[in-house]
Amino acid sequence: MVDFSLSKHEKELFEKAMEFTRKYITPNARELEEANEFPWEIAQKAKEAGLMHLHIPKDIGGQGYTLFEETLIAEAIGYGDAGVATTLLADNLAFTPILIGSTQEQLEKYIKPLASDPKVKLGAFCLTERVAGSDAAAIKTVAEKDGDEWVINGHKCFATSGHVASILSVFTTTDPEQGYKTMACHMVPADAPGVKIGFLENKMGQSASFQCEIEFKDVRVPADCILGKVGDGFKIAMQTLDKTRASIAAIGVGVAQRAVHEAAKFANHRRQFGQKIGKFQGIAFLLADMEARAMAARWATRYAAWLADKGMRNSKESSLAKVLATDAAMLNATDCVQIMGGYGYLREYPAEQMMRGAKLLQIYEGTNQIQRVVASGLILKESKEIDTGFRLKYDGKDAPNPWE
Ligand SMILES: Cc1cc2nc3c(=O)[nH]c(=O)nc-3n(C[C@H](O)[C@H](O)[C@H](O)COP(=O)(O)OP(=O)(O)OC[C@H]3O[C@@H](n4cnc5c(N)ncnc54)[C@H](O)[C@@H]3O)c2cc1C
Repeated sequence: MVDFSLSKHEKELFEKAMEFTRKYITPNARELEEANEFPWEIAQKAKEAGLMHLHIPKDIGGQGYTLFEETLIAEAIGYGDAGVATTLLADNLAFTPILIGSTQEQLEKYIKPLASDPKVKLGAFCLTERVAGSDAAAIKTVAEKDGDEWVINGHKCFATSGHVASILSVFTTTDPEQGYKTMACHMVPADAPGVKIGFLENKMGQSASFQCEIEFKDVRVPADCILGKVGDGFKIAMQTLDKTRASIAAIGVGVAQRAVHEAAKFANHRRQFGQKIGKFQGIAFLLADMEARAMAARWATRYAAWLADKGMRNSKESSLAKVLATDAAMLNATDCVQIMGGYGYLREYPAEQMMRGAKLLQIYEGTNQIQRVVASGLILKESKEIDTGFRLKYDGKDAPNPWE
């Protein structure tokens, strides 16, 4: 029988992450945004609470969580602040290609020392370049084999936590002319000679997360730093994003739900024209629509994660969950500002920070247009196998459909 309830363990995990959020993130979200410093203390506390390195296996020093469990944590952290959630979840983004493409020996050698260190050690995912954003196969960062080493040259940008990471998962190519066919993914220790951290980006929101330029200048790494083989890079990137998009969607669910709660609390308290504003249908219906979006987004997200955990392909579902949940986050945060009137626009209240933070969710890890490209491609492909039952009749007889 289908069961939509969380297990005892899942409920406890969600509650633990919510408790962490209520204690360390929500009350400090404004200060964390304005500090302009990497939130090391939160990251360290999250590590100690078992809320980091979420799907690195336990024997390698991680938590060994499923993607479903990860979405519970991401929703709870996103409820507190999307910027902090981006910082904590970007670490998973960096380790996911490694977990997909590495051997047990590579995990033991390169990941275990980081994941099992009591001090939090982060990863950064380096795919995007100035010339290659949505078109990831257009990357120009070149990896050349030289004896028993790889030599890497190129520039990456927008690398979340790149300036503080210990290990970088770097997407490369052995021949930029060949597109996805010659893409590879290399693990690069961040302290390897030739890795140069560039400037930090200046953003409109999510300021508790940091993105930087990284230059790779004749960076030499051992031969076993490649994940799989040359040609596997694009597949590893796409498989990574199928998983991590469910996590970003979960951050969106958290933001969307928090917006409902803040708006409802305000509407229950604020009085105009002699009554609580929540009594006005114009406000009450907004609240109902906001809750509907959060609810739909949550189930789409959990379904996308569940499919991945069952080993089933979830490209369409994770792309659409990201669209639903991050659009819900943006719409709900905007409606929250509206319901709070002038107060929604003030920095004393959380709504405007939520609104700025939500915007980014629609852009990174593939814009929502790109999610629609992925999903619509699959919908068109699947339609070839679908019989809707419709038959064109002409003079009462079956006629060939004109498009067949
Ligand atoms: C804060 C932040 C954090 C990030 N973190 C990371 C990270 O950790 N690692 C990493 O590698 N990258 C990261 N990124 C990069 C991010 O994934 C890209 O910005 C994103 O994929 C879009 O690429 P782009 O910015 O180059 O936009 P472009 O690809 O240039 O797109 C510009 C516009 O064109 C649209 N567009 C492009 N192609 C199509 C199409 N085929 N159909 C319809 N519309 C299209 C896009 O949707 C967008 O609206 C981050 C970005 C930001 C802003």
